[in-house]
Amino acid sequence: MPRIVTAGECMVEMSPLAEPGTFRMGYAGDSFNTGWYLRHCLPAEWQVDYLTAVGTDAVSDEMLAFMAASGVGTDHVARRADKTVGLYLIELAGGERSFSYWRGDSAARTFAREAGWLRSAFADADCVLISGITLAILIPEDRERLLAALSDYRQTGGCVAFDPNLRPRLWASEREMTEWIERAAAVSDLVLPSYEDEARWFADRDPEATAARYAGLGASLVVVKDGGKDVLVRSGEKTSWCVVEPVADVVDTTAAGDSFNAGFLAAWLQGSDLDVSVRSGTALAAQVIGQRGALVPVDIARVVTG
Ligand code: ADP
Repeated sequence: MPRIVTAGECMVEMSPLAEPGTFRMGYAGDSFNTGWYLRHCLPAEWQVDYLTAVGTDAVSDEMLAFMAASGVGTDHVARRADKTVGLYLIELAGGERSFSYWRGDSAARTFAREAGWLRSAFADADCVLISGITLAILIPEDRERLLAALSDYRQTGGCVAFDPNLRPRLWASEREMTEWIERAAAVSDLVLPSYEDEARWFADRDPEATAARYAGLGASLVVVKDGGKDVLVRSGEKTSWCVVEPVADVVDTTAAGDSFNAGFLAAWLQGSDLDVSVRSGTALAAQVIGQRGALVPVDIARVVTG
C-alpha cells in the first residue's frame, strides 16, 4: 500500500464565535493540516499517517478520534501519561486575528525521543514530510535523532519533503533557526519554502535565490510559493514558473501553504508532471483561502491530481 507520513504537532484550536467569550474547538497544526488535506486528495489505496505524541487524557483521546475519523492513520501517535496536547486561541480585534499559544510543554515535543519509533514510522513510506515547526518544537538532541532517522530512511530510497515554515518565535535565536533549517534541507529531496519568509530570514533577493540556495544544500526539487504571485519550480538545473490564478475573495490565508503542499504532493506522488502538480497545489490552496479556518471543506473534483 502506498503510504505518506507527515510529522509534527497538532494542537487544539479555539476559534471565536459571534457571541463574545464563546469559541469553537477544532484541531490544527501545519504538518497535520497537510496530512489532513493529503487524506482528502489521495485515493483510498494510499495510507496517510501522522507521527506525533499526545497525552492520555480526554482531550488527547478526542484529538485522536478526530484524526481517525478524518481517515488519518494514528498508529504512530505516541501516548505520554504526564503530558497533554498544545492549544491555541484565536482572537478577533477589528477584523484582525491574533493568536495565543499554550504549547511550550506539549506531548508533541517528545515525539522524537526514540530512534526505533521513528524508524518504524518511516519504514516502507513513499514520502515523509516535516516542517521547520516540526524541528522547532523538539529539543536539539531529538532534532538530531529525527534528522538522522530521515537520512537513514532516504538512504533506503525514501523521499523526504520539507517546508521550512520559518517561525522565529519558536526558536531560541534566529541563528539557531537558520542553521537547523539548512541541516534539514540537506537531508531533503523536496523543499517547499514560502518566498516572503525566506527573503526576510535568509536575505534572498528573489525566489530564484531561494531555490538556488536550497538546491545548493542538496534538494533536487525546490518549489517556491509566494502568496498570490507565481510559483517557481527548480528541478535539478531547470527553472520554470507556474501561474497562480487570482483568487477573488481571499477570506483567511491560514493553511494556504499547508494545503498547497498537500495538493502538490498528492499529484506529484501519483506521477503527475511538475506543472500539473503545482496546479493541483494552487487549486487546493485557492479553495482553502476562500474560507475561514485551517481545515475547511474542499471540492477535490476541482483539484487536478492526475
Ligand atoms: P504560506 O501559507 O506558507 O505563507 P503562501 O502565502 O506563499 O504560503 O501561499 C501558498 C499558496 O497559497 C500560494 O502558492 C498560492 O497558491 C496560494 N495563495 C496564497 N495567497 C494567495 C492569494 N492572495 N491569491 C491567490 N493564491 C494565494
